[in-house]
Amino acid sequence: MAIATINPATGKTLKTFQPFTEDEVESKLRHAYEAFLKHRTESFAARSAMMRKAADILESEKDRWGSLMVLEMGKPIVAARQEAEKCARVCRFYADNAEKFLSDEVVPTSASRSYVRYEPLGTILAVMPWNFPFWQVFRFASPALMAGNVGLLKHASNVPQCAIAIEEIFRRAGFPEGVFQTLLIGSDQVQRVLEDPTVKAATLTGSEPAGRSVASLAGKLIKKTVLELGGSDPFIVMPSADLGEAVAVGIKARTVNNGQSCIAAKRFIVHDKLYDAFRKLFVEQMERLVVGDPMDERTNVGPLATLDGLETLDEQVRTAVESGARLLIGGKKLRRQGYFYAPTVLENIPSDTPAYSEELFGPVALLFRVKSAEEAVHLANDTPFGLGSSVWTSDPKEREFFLRNLDAGSVFFNAMVASDPQLPFGGVKNSGYGRELSAFGIREFVNVKTVWIKESA
Ligand code: NAP
Repeated sequence: MAIATINPATGKTLKTFQPFTEDEVESKLRHAYEAFLKHRTESFAARSAMMRKAADILESEKDRWGSLMVLEMGKPIVAARQEAEKCARVCRFYADNAEKFLSDEVVPTSASRSYVRYEPLGTILAVMPWNFPFWQVFRFASPALMAGNVGLLKHASNVPQCAIAIEEIFRRAGFPEGVFQTLLIGSDQVQRVLEDPTVKAATLTGSEPAGRSVASLAGKLIKKTVLELGGSDPFIVMPSADLGEAVAVGIKARTVNNGQSCIAAKRFIVHDKLYDAFRKLFVEQMERLVVGDPMDERTNVGPLATLDGLETLDEQVRTAVESGARLLIGGKKLRRQGYFYAPTVLENIPSDTPAYSEELFGPVALLFRVKSAEEAVHLANDTPFGLGSSVWTSDPKEREFFLRNLDAGSVFFNAMVASDPQLPFGGVKNSGYGRELSAFGIREFVNVKTVWIKESA
């Protein structure tokens, strides 16, 4: 894939970039290593001061960063500015808490003194997706840099200007040259970077195939990985739910980021008792969404990020309908320039169509009718993915049942799935492994060093 900015609202190529040469990659790797030798010895106070400055830059210039995101991947401008603010929050969260999360932990044993010390690993490679082009990177980089590691970013090829901007933010915040660098490289150059002995681990957020590829190579090299992959999250609505709220939140949960979020609600599993009423309200509200220019503050749904993504989604929907799914609204590309897809609702989806088992990355909701909590769980778990899940019920026993039985990295009751710096984030099954955010996230890329001391008498 060429490294280029293509405005998804128009389909026009605005800027192209030459991938780094072998020498340029080599030089970035050396810079990273040299920077690590110093950065690892920096105090938490000094790292925190720089991280807070990064937060200030993100917040005070959120219009600039937001416009860049819209230009390269088409999310609505209001959400793009909020993404910059959320990045500021995660920077401040780790500026405030990294030292606490990584302080020595004394463990009483037969030793005179024994404890656990957390030490940084070195250079960490981050392979990142375009859908939250700032958030995904900051959610990795703020804990990694606070822990004393240094970061190399291989961003998705369609968001090069976001990638360059993020490097600029860390540099302006005071992080020394080499602590965080962007590599403008294609996915075919990832292997060379990962094989470098100075690169100690990798994190990949993206699709299943990309995750498999990087994790298998890292496995051969015996380097640790964290994988945040796709999802097909269930949104389960039981009879005790607040119907109006479930519908309103469900619409948002499906169409957030123009429907291109790993934790978007993708499968609406609704109890028979509420199904007809839910469907009516849901379709009405999907129809009312404003689809249009992502720079316009009134827009709810902008274009898909890439032409490829648009074609894939259209194909998934058409195949489902040809196989017997019922189209309630949408189901087509919009007749205008850019990569726009109509908000779509399908029901009666046959289990042998790709739409049933694959991730739908766009504003397409699937509705399923179930007669019991057991049937809801069975359907919810009938997917290769296991990222988030949302359950709408006010019955405590039912809550416990879903909590125990859903195969997912998170369960949100009466709310949409969302990430929060204070809570761990990640999946099970083909949605990946490892956790980001919270204390769990910062401890993914550290050497958990055991210290055992016997004092001489
Ligand atoms: P993608 O095509 O997998 O790309 C993600 C990154 O991986 C890009 O930087 C891409 O580079 C690189 N890449 C692709 N194939 C690779 C390979 N064989 N070896 C090394 N690197 C490779 O995914 P995307 O389309 O950008 O993002 C959408 C996917 O990300 C969805 O499945 C979504 O659910 C998932 N996602 C998951 C989370 C989570 O937290 N679980 C969050 C956000 C998104 P190029 O651009 O150069 O190809």
